[in-house]
Amino acid sequence: MDGVGTSATLALLDMVQRRRAEGRTILDMGLGEPVFPAPPVGARAAIDSVQNGDLRYGPVAGARALRELVAANARSLGARESDIGIDNVVISNGSKQALFNACFVLFGAGDEVLVPTPAWTSYYDIIRLSRARPVSVLGDATRSFKIDVDLLRVAASPHTKGLILNSPCNPTGAVYSREELVDILRLADERGWWIISDEIYRAFSYEGEATSLLSVSDGFDRLAVTNGMSKAYAMPGWRIGWSIAPVDVSARMIALQSHATAGPGNAGQAAAIGILSDKNESALHLASIRSAFRARRDCALDALRTLDGLELIEPEGAFYCFFRVPGESDDFCRRLLATHDVAIVPGDAFGVPGWARASYSSDLDSVREGFARLAEFLRTTSA
Ligand code: PLP
Repeated sequence: MDGVGTSATLALLDMVQRRRAEGRTILDMGLGEPVFPAPPVGARAAIDSVQNGDLRYGPVAGARALRELVAANARSLGARESDIGIDNVVISNGSKQALFNACFVLFGAGDEVLVPTPAWTSYYDIIRLSRARPVSVLGDATRSFKIDVDLLRVAASPHTKGLILNSPCNPTGAVYSREELVDILRLADERGWWIISDEIYRAFSYEGEATSLLSVSDGFDRLAVTNGMSKAYAMPGWRIGWSIAPVDVSARMIALQSHATAGPGNAGQAAAIGILSDKNESALHLASIRSAFRARRDCALDALRTLDGLELIEPEGAFYCFFRVPGESDDFCRRLLATHDVAIVPGDAFGVPGWARASYSSDLDSVREGFARLAEFLRTTSA
């Protein structure tokens, strides 16, 4: 554990809790969870599962019905229609465990894994825990911090074994185009790299659909895609995620998971089956979540656009704004919390000091108020 850092956000969380205990109302824009009702059909299915006494150990790889629904959704994305079945799918305790499984199965001592940066903080540590070495590839700030094949070529070495893509991206909200993904796939194919594609924010794409690697990867086998119920269906506490990977990789993930946690809880899986098998309710939910979060994004951007010269990544997806702050970002976030009761996350947590991430995943009124306070602080503060 020596090389594994504690989360850069923990100290701030501590401060939030202390101020709450003092009776202050904190607007928490550090959140990575969508404030939105989950489709009710999920709760009904979970209640049925509990009332029917579904208490036994389930299959390690997850319920067959859920694996089939995930496989069917994956097939409907296009290119790989013929070769995705339930043996490609493993249901896990959140997509975090799916990412863990993928890194542990694919990478090990001596391997290097490219991480387009800024990136979700856990990638670096999950890779370290798998005994491989994360290699940050800093994206181009003028292109929403996206990476491209030239940047990947420079960062690669003979030890490179793979990379983790995340589109839409946490923390920048950047969305890779189909062409950009095809270029990256081509390079990975040439070099024999694995790609782990974390698509947990795919439902949150505001300028058209975000491309899944599953729809462009025909003929490319070294791919593991992860996703889950946490963000798209606003149920992070149910801990249901999954991976779609080649059958031999999935078999190893199942072996690993059998020793770690076994399959996820029955009630959560029942909720996921209830939602994903109700195509109408599921489609309505996804459409309403997309328009609600687009409105929140526009509201957040309206506030930040009032600031002349603010370096800001205009998010096309996910539910975060990423922007440069004056001075040291940890200090900036502490002062914002102390003076305006607003919590955001310093860019250090994502590998880019000097920037910060504010989430617009809360309800619209809180987003409006929180971003107005943030904008006011940015207008009046200096380093
Ligand atoms: N991937 C990214 C980029 C995330 O931001 C998160 C959670 O914040 C996860 C994965 C993990 O989600 P879960 O384990 O709830 O599926």
